[in-house]
Amino acid sequence: MNKNKQKWTPSFIKNIAEKREEKRREKRRKRLIKFLSFGVLLFISIIGLIVAGITENNQEKSEASLTKEVETISVEQKEDTTPLSIERVISASEEKEPLAEEPVLELKVHFIDVGQGDCTLVESKGETLLIDAGPDDVGTKIQKYLMDEGITKIDYFVLTHPDSDHIGSADVVVTKFDIGKIYMSSFIKDNKYYHDMLDAFAYKNLKWTIPKEGDSFEVGDAHVSIVHSKEYEDPNNSSLVIKVTCGETSFLFAGDAEATAEKDMVEQNADLSATVYHVSHHGSYTSSTQDFLDRVKPEYAVISCAKDNAYGHPHQETLDTLKARNISLFRIDLQGGIIAFSDGKGIEWSVAAAKNYEGGDSELEKKIKEEQFIAIGNKSQDNSETTRTMPDDKKEEKNPTTDSDSKKGKTSSDAGNKNQNGSDQKDDKSNPDSSNVAYIGNRSKHKLHRADCKGKLPAEYNRDYFNSLDEAVAAGYTKENQCKNCYPFGK
Ligand SMILES: [Zn+2]
Ligand SMILES: [Zn+2]
Repeated sequence: MNKNKQKWTPSFIKNIAEKREEKRREKRRKRLIKFLSFGVLLFISIIGLIVAGITENNQEKSEASLTKEVETISVEQKEDTTPLSIERVISASEEKEPLAEEPVLELKVHFIDVGQGDCTLVESKGETLLIDAGPDDVGTKIQKYLMDEGITKIDYFVLTHPDSDHIGSADVVVTKFDIGKIYMSSFIKDNKYYHDMLDAFAYKNLKWTIPKEGDSFEVGDAHVSIVHSKEYEDPNNSSLVIKVTCGETSFLFAGDAEATAEKDMVEQNADLSATVYHVSHHGSYTSSTQDFLDRVKPEYAVISCAKDNAYGHPHQETLDTLKARNISLFRIDLQGGIIAFSDGKGIEWSVAAAKNYEGGDSELEKKIKEEQFIAIGNKSQDNSETTRTMPDDKKEEKNPTTDSDSKKGKTSSDAGNKNQNGSDQKDDKSNPDSSNVAYIGNRSKHKLHRADCKGKLPAEYNRDYFNSLDEAVAAGYTKENQCKNCYPFGK
């Protein structure tokens, strides 16, 4: 009794209640653990499934690429009738891997707009080559261009030949930039530009080298080789010819080399082939002969000259040749500065190719007709007609000084002109004031007159001046096309 009574005391009841509560808590705990462990299991299996899914996907992908490779190979191996073995597929994909690691080649060629002249910057992996330095009035322009490109040093400076439209601003370049090696043509010209250049060399304590054919050097990823280095009687043909190669792409620069030098290069079997041809002598008809272009076989051509220049560059004949050969054309006179980018495999351009194949001499022809029209006495009342002829008159005063680069050879007039008290014109062979001028050529029609011809002489801006018949012949004038009034070649 007592025991029973004792058993159901409040403390006993409390004890039992506590125990029950504890059991319930234990049950909850167990459920929670079960739930948690189930959750963890579920989580792990989901992760597992995802991982498995990705791996499967990857396997599918790599299988697909392998299939692709098998397809490519079987396309390439059409004639191969034996089925492809797995080893072959594997070795093919192994062969592909090194291609991805092939170094990326970089070359940038800037055909800088220097008006009537040449100046080209070749840049690769921080190294630089400058080919020519334009006429003497673009020094600041060239300096600014190079500075904008972040250039402080010209590692190689090549001056193709000593005409003023190629060395005119060499003094500025030499003075303003660090210069590495200088390569020059052996042709020496006794004129202001040449002396200014030599003074700048002396000021910077620089020596120059006359390179030999076959000499070469590296500019970043580009290999530069001297294709032709020979002295002729005239500066143009004495131009250094250089080839810049980057991977499978290449550029040929021939300064103002003309038919005579071109013929020699063809006969010597010089390595002339190039993707890009920097058209010699600003597109003059006296350069870019068919035989020469057969060897160069360019895809692209770049012509550097000024719009409406007094020489009629580029000549229609040259443009017709380029067009007939389906060569994409870039023209600084119409498009301004042009940049070519090479990755060693192909070339991209900063502008689209020029569609205009109209020569500068066809413009000259028009002007001559205009002038004849005015001379006849039907002078137009329209002011624009008269003012349009004005800049040409001015140009005629200026051009002979900035552009002694003419079609004429080395002449004895240098010595004679030298006495003209330091004038800029002292080197100029096309200077109409030269007292010993014997022949006058029509630059656009290539017709030769005696200087004292009683017939009609060409307009001032359309004249070539020669001291001898030999010079005229060297510039491409022929007996067939002589004046039928004065017969300079004789009847
Ligand atoms: Zn030139
Ligand atoms: Zn020249």
